[in-house]
Amino acid sequence: MLKIEDINVYYGNIQALKGVSMEINEGEIVTLIGANGAGKSTLLKTISGLLKPKQGKVLFEGDSIGGKAAQSIVKMGISHVPEGRRVFANMTVAENLELGAYLRKDKAGIHKDMEKVYELFPRLLERIKQQAGTLSGGEQQMLAMGRALMAKPRLLLLDEPSMGLAPLLVKQIFNIIQEISESGTTILLVEQNANLALSIADRAYVVETGRIVLSGNAEELTSSEEIKMAYLGGH
Ligand code: ATP
Repeated sequence: MLKIEDINVYYGNIQALKGVSMEINEGEIVTLIGANGAGKSTLLKTISGLLKPKQGKVLFEGDSIGGKAAQSIVKMGISHVPEGRRVFANMTVAENLELGAYLRKDKAGIHKDMEKVYELFPRLLERIKQQAGTLSGGEQQMLAMGRALMAKPRLLLLDEPSMGLAPLLVKQIFNIIQEISESGTTILLVEQNANLALSIADRAYVVETGRIVLSGNAEELTSSEEIKMAYLGGH
């Protein structure tokens, strides 16, 4: 579904991704693990068109998207939930969700997807008229995910959905990620909590200082001594 071939991405003179190649097959949950600053968010931003690779290819269902505008990429079926759950603070929950569908014209479909989002996140339905800025951190994460789903993505990019959330909420969010996956959406998940990410992922890539240093299926990586020592707390 998504194929990345040997991309280099820079911030000015700083090279953040160095010859990264990876792929995601339809229906998979793939996770990127790696320390702070390794380049995980940069990779998501490159896929969603917020950054352009200086070299290499990003192919989505065979089409090159590496130089396309972010908006066209959303239209093609890729939604990005950025780190830090940026919601529109002065708008209500419902308005935030509507904005997620702004590129769509199928009113009936939009309505149906809105209902699906409220089913997935009943908490958002309870707070439908509340201003997004007054929601708790967990609720804002749900809203950011709900808004991304309103674009009807086939590939959903999630950047650190568990960040700053209490363990119980993290568990809830991860259950919902699994539900989203089961309903047919392919997922690329960036997560500091490697244990948790590997527990729901099919495959994983390990990123270190801008390079992919290891990849494999999630079960294999969970039992690898190297991964245990570096990313899973050494147990
Ligand atoms: P984190 O979990 O902390 O977000 P990450 O693996 O997602 O880490 P990136 O945010 O992709 O890492 O950062 C990769 C590298 O690029 C880091 O060295 C970072 O300092 C640098 N970088 C990120 N954003 C910018 C920017 N806007 N300008 C310059 N350098 C940046």
